[in-house]
This record gives sequence, structure tokens and C-alpha cells, in this order.
Amino acid sequence: MTEYKLNLGHLYGDLMNTYGDYGNYLALKYYAEQIGVKINYKLISLHDPFKADDYDILLFGGGQDYEEEVVAKDLPQKSGEIKKYIENNGSLLAVCAGFQLLGSTIQFADGKTIEGIGVMPHKTVNLNSPKLTDRMRGKRLIGNIVIKNNENGETYHGFENHQGRTFLGKGEKALGTIVSGNGNNGDDKTEGVIYKNVYGTYFHGPILTRNGNLAKRILATALKKRYPEIDWTKKLSQIPTETF
Ligand code: GLN
Repeated sequence: MTEYKLNLGHLYGDLMNTYGDYGNYLALKYYAEQIGVKINYKLISLHDPFKADDYDILLFGGGQDYEEEVVAKDLPQKSGEIKKYIENNGSLLAVCAGFQLLGSTIQFADGKTIEGIGVMPHKTVNLNSPKLTDRMRGKRLIGNIVIKNNENGETYHGFENHQGRTFLGKGEKALGTIVSGNGNNGDDKTEGVIYKNVYGTYFHGPILTRNGNLAKRILATALKKRYPEIDWTKKLSQIPTETF
């Protein structure tokens, strides 16, 4: 019997793991095992080499401003390969600080601005930015959040806790429209991003344990790229979708 496998890389999983974002890996593994797919997990941290062609799925979790700055200093040595991975239609889930770091610039709570890897055009300003409406300025965005993806009709539930406010750029679609909660910036009703096979979001929870529909979607995309001869979406539709 053929053994199907996917190589999953967890970018800075030891530093960027706010509110158990590691659970996103557990959710993918949980569904993969039920359809006979093995996931090989590899942590990619500071100073570790990274080669785009070695991976089928990448995870990039959340972190506070301190860890985010440490990671930002290491990213330039990996950014070329991360860009190559994304442009080559690799699957990637980026949460909160990970989502911010894929974009162009990030402004921390203390006003300092750092560079992201710029593979996507979104920008993150801080909670005091004049770009924000008075209603949204000066507070962290904390609490439960619900969004609806307008293209596939799916609803996603999560928990957000961030000061940074992200504005999407050209060619970027939101992961969903706000039903309740704040999302990217609290003002424009967008939450997260979809660009090629990259999903970015402010949702913790972790997002894939609470939203099995999205976990299956990411898994199916990665599997289809590696094993195009099989209808992975159909296989995944035959097992129950969990919402923990
Ligand atoms: N430091 C970032 C912010 O507050 C990211 C927070 C997070 O990843 N939870 O905007």
C-alpha cells in the first residue's frame, strides 16, 4: 500500500506559539491520520536553514512584540525561500504576529516600526495610528470573534488578542467578513487574508481545532499539490468535521 506523507514546517514554533497555536499542527495531523496520511513535523527556528522545496505545509504562529522582533531579525536569511514557497503555491497558515510578518511593515505598541518579509503587501500600524477611527484607537482588540468567508460560505470562530492593526493591500482578499468582533483593524470589517494558498488570520483558538472545515481545506490543498491523482477533498468530506 502506498504511504502518503506531507512535510510540515513550523516556522519559529518555539518562539511563536501564543494561546496554543501548536494545536494547528495537531488538528492537521488528526484529520490526516484518518485518511491514511502521515505528517512529518519539523521545527524551523532561529539560524536553522530553510529550503522551500522540502515542505508541503508551513505554520507560522503568533507572538508578542518582543518575540516578533527577535524573529524579524532572523527572517531575512529565510525570506527568499519563504517567498519562493508562497509564489510556488505552497500552503501556509500564519497567525497574528506570523501574519503581520509576511507583510511589509509592522508598528509595535511602543511606536517602533520594523520590516516584515514583504512577500505580501499588507501593512500593520499600531493601536494609536491616525489611520484608525476614534472608536478603535487606543485599545487592544481582545475577545471572541466570528467571521464569514463570502466565497465558500463557511463560518469561522476564534479568539483575538492584538494591538497591531492590519490593512490589506493590492491582490489580497480577506479570509472573512466580520460577523462579531474586530479582526484586522476594527474599522473595515475584514479579518485575515487569503493570497494564493496562504491563509493569514488573527484567530487563536487554535483556529484549526475550532474550525475543522478550514483544517480540511488546507490539508486538501497541500495533498492535491503533492498527489494530484487523488480526490482529497472527497476523502476528507467522508470523515466528520470537528469543532472543539
Ligand atoms: N505583537 C502583535 C500584536 O499585538 C501580535 C500579537 C499576537 O500574536 N497575539 O499586534
